[in-house]
Amino acid sequence: MKFVSSRSLAGPKSSFSEAAMRGMAPDGGLYVPESFPHFDMTSFEPGLSLSGFAAKMLAPFFEGDRLDSELSAICAGALDFPIPLKPLRDGAAVLELFHGPTCAFKDVGARFLAECLSRSPDRPSTIIVATSGDTGGAVAGAFFGRPGLDVMILYPKGKISARQEKQLTCWGENVRAFAVRGTFDDCQRVVKSVLRDSEWASKRRFLSANSISVGRLLPQAVFHARASLEYARAGGRNAGIVIPTGNLGDAVAALWAKAMGFPIARVVLATNANATIRDYFASGTYAPRASVSTLANAMDVGDPSNMERLRTLYPDLEALKRDVSVELATDDEISTAIRDGLAKWGEIWCPHTATAVIAWERARARGESTDLILAATAHPAKFETVVEPLIGRAVPIPPPLQAILGRPSVSVEIDPSLEALRRAAD
Ligand SMILES: *Cc1c(COP(=O)(O)O)cnc(C)c1O
Repeated sequence: MKFVSSRSLAGPKSSFSEAAMRGMAPDGGLYVPESFPHFDMTSFEPGLSLSGFAAKMLAPFFEGDRLDSELSAICAGALDFPIPLKPLRDGAAVLELFHGPTCAFKDVGARFLAECLSRSPDRPSTIIVATSGDTGGAVAGAFFGRPGLDVMILYPKGKISARQEKQLTCWGENVRAFAVRGTFDDCQRVVKSVLRDSEWASKRRFLSANSISVGRLLPQAVFHARASLEYARAGGRNAGIVIPTGNLGDAVAALWAKAMGFPIARVVLATNANATIRDYFASGTYAPRASVSTLANAMDVGDPSNMERLRTLYPDLEALKRDVSVELATDDEISTAIRDGLAKWGEIWCPHTATAVIAWERARARGESTDLILAATAHPAKFETVVEPLIGRAVPIPPPLQAILGRPSVSVEIDPSLEALRRAAD
């Protein structure tokens, strides 16, 4: 199975590892599979481990790839934490994606990419990423201590939560964090200028680990596939999946799993007040805009970078709407869902997961099927400043976060420019 650019589906083909090492396709498009394998569900025996499931499901994508023989080891290394599907009530089940080292689902993709790159002889030498929150921590944790791979993380100084900042700055060794005097957009601009600067780039071979990386996206299809099969086997009904959505990466991964034949009834995109996706579904016109800040800050996106992949899957809006719908949640609704979480569900929701809960409640109010898997994308303890005042008690801190909080922080403050980064980094 090869990968092609979203801008030329009949154009040049790349293997998975070529695509993962390049980031963006040469024509500026995003890598997508040229076609999807179709699985016989009985070949996934019940009780198969998460990494065993991943190795089986991803095998067709690695056929002919030079990392083919390493796929099992890559999956075992990347997916060494549980991703449980917990039944709640009335058809709802929560898929807990936050048991990894930085307590958010981005650990899966970041660790898979890191496992692939560390096994690639001609790999890039520096991973660079701009982050407004969770991505930087996941990438830092995934690449920490890997020989021959440096990591540079740029984040907007003073604009991320204390615990998020700790997850970027606590590593040391091959991971360096830069607190940029500016906004997230400034950080992204600096990263883009680094990738374009051929002189520096020829010295340090840079790879951006942002959310368009197919090396991060493809492995995310695994947990959606596995959860859908587990749900269908347990109750004999196919569930939809509700996905807290920002850049549309995780949602596209779920739709890839659906395209491979896994029993996913539909996908519900749960967004915060950033309305670009909702308005696209309503009007058929894609109109990107500046993002607005919300309580679910990892989803504050006004121009979702995986839109191009979504339109490759569904060039026709009517076909898209048959499989996918959108539910938008305001900050007030998010607050209410978190406040009521313990009483209604016995759960403490993170602000992102709360958007999925709201979508479930709306499905019930409208009399639609409530057979829905809610993707819980982060642990609430990462967002304690939002969650604790609402629920009136402390959120227990999971062990991986506890371990990080005790470590010293190191970051270098820089102006938002390529020159400033280069002076500080080289
Ligand atoms: C990144 C993130 C999202 C959004 O995921 P996309 O793939 O960008 O749509 C949702 N929730 C959390 C906690 C995240 O970190």
